[in-house]
Amino acid sequence: MPDVNCTVNNCKYWTSGNLCEAQQIVIQNDEEGGFSPNANLKSLKATPADANDDTCCQTFKMK
Ligand code: SF4
Repeated sequence: MPDVNCTVNNCKYWTSGNLCEAQQIVIQNDEEGGFSPNANLKSLKATPADANDDTCCQTFKMK
């Protein structure tokens, strides 16, 4: 799988450098917008989540 950059740092699949270590992820659309495709993905600030519904990634699992 290509690198997946993610800032949800309280997920069990998250690792330093804003990388995801899951073998497969499920994503749904995010109507709230996002950030520029040119953003430096590895240095974005952490955005921890309290539950699956707080992320657009349905693979999120709390650490
Ligand atoms: S929230 Fe999703 S993309 Fe982010 S680390 Fe967890 S499984 Fe990977």
